[in-house]
Amino acid sequence: MALSSERLFDSLGHFGRFQACVYFASVFQAMSCGIHYLASVFMAVTPNFVCGFPGNVSSVLFHNSSASSIEDIWTLWTSTENYIVVQLENGEIWELDQCSRSKREVSLDLAYEYKGNKSVFPCSDGFLYDDTKWKSTVVTQWDLVCDREWLAKLIQPTFMLGVLIGAVIFGDIADRLGRQRVIWFTSAGQFVFGIAVAFTFDYYSFVVVRFLLAMVSSGYLVVAFVYVTEFVGIKARTWASMHVHAFFAMGIMVVALVGFLVRTWWVYQIFLSIATLPFVLCCWMLPETPFWLLSEERYEDAQKVIDTMARWNKVSTPCKVSELCSVQQDDLSSGRIGDDDTSSTKKHNILDLFCNWQIARRTITVWLIWFTGSLGYYVFSLSSVSLGGNEYLNLFLIGAVELPCYIIACVAMDKLGRRNTLIPFLILSALICVLIMFIPQDFNILIILANMAGKFSIGVAFGLIYLYTAELYPTIVRSLAVGSGSMMCRVGSVVAPFCVYLRSVWIFMPLVGVNQDLGNVLGGDDDKMCIKNVTCFAFHLQEKIDYFLPLYKLTGAVVPQTHSVVTKIAADTEEWVGTYLFCLCILEMASPKVAVVGAGVIGLSTALCITETCPSCSVAVLSDQFSPNTTSDVAAGMLIPHTYPDTPIHRQKQWFKETFTYLFAISNSAEASEAGIHLVFGWQVFKSTPKEALPFWSDIVLGFRAMSEAELLKFPQHQFGQAFTTLKCDCPPYLLWLEKRLKAAGAQMYTRKVADLWELHSEYDIVVNCAGMGAHQLVGDKQLFPVRGQVLKVHAPWVKQFIRDGDGLTYIYPGIHRVTLGGTREKGSWSLSPDAGTTKDIFDRCCSLEPSLQGAQGMEVKVGLRPSRQCVRVQREVLSQGGVELPVVHNYGHGAGGFSVHRGTAIEAAQLVEECISALQGSSSRAKL
Ligand code: FAD
Repeated sequence: MALSSERLFDSLGHFGRFQACVYFASVFQAMSCGIHYLASVFMAVTPNFVCGFPGNVSSVLFHNSSASSIEDIWTLWTSTENYIVVQLENGEIWELDQCSRSKREVSLDLAYEYKGNKSVFPCSDGFLYDDTKWKSTVVTQWDLVCDREWLAKLIQPTFMLGVLIGAVIFGDIADRLGRQRVIWFTSAGQFVFGIAVAFTFDYYSFVVVRFLLAMVSSGYLVVAFVYVTEFVGIKARTWASMHVHAFFAMGIMVVALVGFLVRTWWVYQIFLSIATLPFVLCCWMLPETPFWLLSEERYEDAQKVIDTMARWNKVSTPCKVSELCSVQQDDLSSGRIGDDDTSSTKKHNILDLFCNWQIARRTITVWLIWFTGSLGYYVFSLSSVSLGGNEYLNLFLIGAVELPCYIIACVAMDKLGRRNTLIPFLILSALICVLIMFIPQDFNILIILANMAGKFSIGVAFGLIYLYTAELYPTIVRSLAVGSGSMMCRVGSVVAPFCVYLRSVWIFMPLVGVNQDLGNVLGGDDDKMCIKNVTCFAFHLQEKIDYFLPLYKLTGAVVPQTHSVVTKIAADTEEWVGTYLFCLCILEMASPKVAVVGAGVIGLSTALCITETCPSCSVAVLSDQFSPNTTSDVAAGMLIPHTYPDTPIHRQKQWFKETFTYLFAISNSAEASEAGIHLVFGWQVFKSTPKEALPFWSDIVLGFRAMSEAELLKFPQHQFGQAFTTLKCDCPPYLLWLEKRLKAAGAQMYTRKVADLWELHSEYDIVVNCAGMGAHQLVGDKQLFPVRGQVLKVHAPWVKQFIRDGDGLTYIYPGIHRVTLGGTREKGSWSLSPDAGTTKDIFDRCCSLEPSLQGAQGMEVKVGLRPSRQCVRVQREVLSQGGVELPVVHNYGHGAGGFSVHRGTAIEAAQLVEECISALQGSSSRAKL
């Protein structure tokens, strides 16, 4: 979606009746994704069990308690280390362990302790399961215990692998075949595969069908996310996209509810799958998104959807597809795409996310957060059922806790900004992880509360990262960045189940906390590290190695010998990798975010100066127009200063000098032709002697002198003249060169109209206003007025010298390819339409100065509004609302001389930005950074 998307929503409403219906229908189905992602927590649970025995039991003994059946013993069963003694009707006495059984050689009387000989047998008669809580699970159905336990542990990771693959495949298919078809297919697939899982006949068919279910579930989620954001306007997009996650969370609550009511796994699975039925029955009514239709050039279909939207939203005059296309075309032709656009004129690859140090650092940070967020999200969710207490209530609460967290995330993002919301919640979740490790295992309630707090904080961070990633990257690699981040997220979700299984492999940290002297714990290498830095959560490599123990076993690795060595290496590596990456993460988020509004010569050069003076800043240029559609593109670009009456001359001179020096260096470099900068000699002629014989800039331009008598012969109507060499910028090439430099410095470019500077306060620390004439409306500056200028661009390569009439009204400025003929100065006129009479007048005036121009070819007429003021506004200001402050630096009002002083005012503005940064760091607003 480009700028056109906002035009569409401005016309049809950002979240009208139509969008509400489409939104709630689509997100309702997102619930089923939450259901299937978490269904295994009850379906694949392993109840208490012991080895089966041959024959009928006559009595059962467990420590001092006896019973006539094993069912009565389960309530006494406390540890998997215990065994149960059974006496059979034939008199045999068996000791039943979890994965083996022993027959006592002497079976005279039934006692729990036995010192005599016994023969050990494998569990060839199957297993006896405690069915007081779950009548049947897939573990009990296919005996996924003991040497088949690893099969049970692979159920959730294989599902998550399906999620990973589904997201990639269906994301791509949705771009090719359309969102609507993928939504139909994946929601029908969820129903069909969901029911099919309940009828699988063995473990392998169960895993395969669930893998397919995972693919369609994640496919649905990814495409539904895109689908709803393509239907919702920017004003409602943050809330709408965040709350897709809320419906996923409701799915988790449904799992808890159904798990509580139904205790047979396949009935439970059928009930869960039926939840998707209402949507499957009506999803065929959902329309395709107009943006996908436009991208496929299906204009009539797109218009039909727009008309339907208009009818539902009661809009009488909907916008036309042709209007959207023209804007898109403009954006595409400039190679620049809007804020939410996913297309690009050039194919980019993953290496573009590492194209320079700043972007690479950002990518690593973002990936880290995606991975950590997803890992944390699933670890907290999946492990909630094994925390003790009521597992159904635990899971329900772990889902419910997510609902307020998206509301808080939306509000906090708006009030504090993305980064200031993300950092505290990430740190909080890490601290909670550390805390949980030290809570004694008996303190169930405390552990559950800490788990919920952890889920809440990671939920805020995880929910936000989608949107934040999209905003952190330049448009051209944005979808790539979100896609790669989401891939890291899937990796986190594949790893998460292993982390949860660690509970049975690795001794609980809380127990270590209670059984050992705290000083010893802190003295231990691994734990000291955990206390010392919160990166334990994100980068606990040792944990990961432990988590992978089941896999090591699976592959037959000699775990005991290698584990200690690997653990040591991992612990050391983790310490520095974790600390380093965490610092990067904090540093990245702590670098001040500066928004520069405006992409004319002033905005681009100011942004470039900021990247140079403050390399740690993250700079974004936001503008509703870029080259070639700015006033700066119309300008002749000559370095002959205009005088601002209310700006001290020494300041103007300084600005001009800095600009001249900067451009002169470029003109002497290999980049001169690409940047469109060149030296040009010429004359400024006067009909009468000028007021000042020497302008203030005469010692800055080269070879300034009075014109000779011989030279003046060329201008018979003029009596006096000055000759000098100055610089000229060919405007569009220079603007493109500035953009290129900015991108190389890691700055981002967004096509965005800023209605009010305050709207940027939540996303940026400092705003720089370089909106040119746009500042009239943006900051309500009544001192700013337009001075309309019309120029002609002609092809006349024989004209090599510039000629300027001393009044500045008529001029001939030869550029590298074209000659600019000017001009007009119409104060207060806002008209951007070329005037034919003025065109003739300009041409005649120029021909009277340089008659050879009669032979000029290929005339192009351009109009621009000079953003004029009595003085240029380069100034600091602090906006304040409800106690929140936003530092602003203004740099606009350059009138007829923007090119002549752009670098000088940019340097001054960049210094003001530095001052703002120092003020922010030193003041109570430090937290903002
Ligand atoms: P602009 O180029 O207008 O840039 C403003 C930017 O802000 C644009 O990108 C715009 O889209 C953006 N913007 C505005 N409002 C918003 C908003 N609300 N949200 C987001 N973005 C917004 N100067 C010289 O030094 N030498 C010359 O020879 C010369 N010749 C000229 C000839 C003509 C005919 C004209 C018209 C001007 C000439 N000038 C010349 C003056 C020079 O062009 C201007 O001083 C200079 O272009 C001003 O640059 P700017 O970046 O402030 O404004």
